[in-house]
Amino acid sequence: MSHPPAPEELSVYQNAEARFEVAARKLGLEEGLYRYLKHPSKEITLYIPVGMDNGQLEVFTGYRVLHSTVRGPGKGGIRFAPDVSLDEVRALATWMTWKCAVVNIPFGGAKGGIICDPRKMSKNELERLTRRYTAELADWLGPEKDVPAPDVGTNEQTMAWIMDTYSMHIHQATTAVVTGKPIELGGSRGRKEATGRGVLMCCNKALTKLGMRIAGCRVVVQGFGNVGSMAAKLMHEAGYKIVGLSDIAGGLYNEKGFDVPQVIDWVYIQKKPLQDFPGGGTKMSARDVLFQPCDIVIPAAIENQITEKNAHQVQARILCEGANGPTTSKADAIIDGKGIFIVPDILGNAGGVTVSYFEWVQDRQGFFWRESEVNERLQDVMDGSFDAVVRYAEMHKVNNRIAAYMLAIDRVAIALRLRGIYA
Ligand code: NAD
Repeated sequence: MSHPPAPEELSVYQNAEARFEVAARKLGLEEGLYRYLKHPSKEITLYIPVGMDNGQLEVFTGYRVLHSTVRGPGKGGIRFAPDVSLDEVRALATWMTWKCAVVNIPFGGAKGGIICDPRKMSKNELERLTRRYTAELADWLGPEKDVPAPDVGTNEQTMAWIMDTYSMHIHQATTAVVTGKPIELGGSRGRKEATGRGVLMCCNKALTKLGMRIAGCRVVVQGFGNVGSMAAKLMHEAGYKIVGLSDIAGGLYNEKGFDVPQVIDWVYIQKKPLQDFPGGGTKMSARDVLFQPCDIVIPAAIENQITEKNAHQVQARILCEGANGPTTSKADAIIDGKGIFIVPDILGNAGGVTVSYFEWVQDRQGFFWRESEVNERLQDVMDGSFDAVVRYAEMHKVNNRIAAYMLAIDRVAIALRLRGIYA
């Protein structure tokens, strides 16, 4: 859901590239590997015909970008949104490569997207769109090739359609072709909460690192979808005080704190606008909530929210990124200058892909784990990855974001040197 950048702004992909360049140079990456890893390995553009409910034929544009399969099959979500672009999907695919490497799971990076507005389409139209997109990509997808997952605008049902369409094409029920599925269809316990749970785990680690306590710790969350609502719910349960919330329509700030389960009931059960939550406090724009007084700010909506123009307004001590790319590269120096502790997106939201990995493993084993087992394994991965990034930052005297990129690029480069270049 990127907006076309103003002339002086970098595009989403240029922001991803800017961090890659800094980290690769600091790492002393060979020129050839630098060139190799800078480019995605494959970009597919699809024009997808769909018969709409009104009898009209529409053609939607979709993408699948495979950035890397150096450490394993491509892995990454599929986004349905009106302003999806190839630039954005390319950036998201690249981040998936680094994210999977940061948490050291055996996947490369990929991402997909379709330019559409799922809120304005019927369930049947969405099903036909998803199935045709999957059918067109069937040769490129597979448990050992490229494994999609949900992202903005897609959900468990979308993943079920992908699994079914792919399985019909290869005449074999193949649950491991996609993750984020319903539990009844090979999904993993704990997957729905995983990204938000990973955010919570990173915040707990950051607090310990900074000598802060959960009691009284004020948290603002931008975005109230899968990641934002789960992060807010789990952090509320853990004793944090959630003082700011927002969704696309706007934000709310209340220094007394929100009863998050009640807000979830209001938005998801009663289907009422977040901003109308009774006694919700001060109304503001979806973005302004990021700049309210708090100890932890969690952008969990879309890209390019904290920029060089507004980064000086961030009041938090910790910035933990639930969304992909919420902070632009030009804002990094301002955030650093303010002494804000960053948990970068490729670490902060990696809980999702980690449990997707667990789902893929369970599907392939045909043996399913208890939720407590999933969460324990997730804790191990997140805690170990957090420590590795912070150690890297201290060792190389860089911020946590560049440290995470360096750690990831180094891991991919090691695998690439071992594999060699097939010519
Ligand atoms: P979602 O579609 O479930 O929710 C998105 C939320 O953001 C909604 O509340 C929406 O109203 C809000 N939003 C949309 N546009 C906005 C805007 N302009 N300003 C403020 N709020 C806006 O999506 P999600 O799965 O929660 O993903 C959110 C972010 O997290 C994305 O960047 C996604 O790539 C990233 N992410 C998701 C997962 C996952 O497991 N779902 C994993 C890793 C990263």
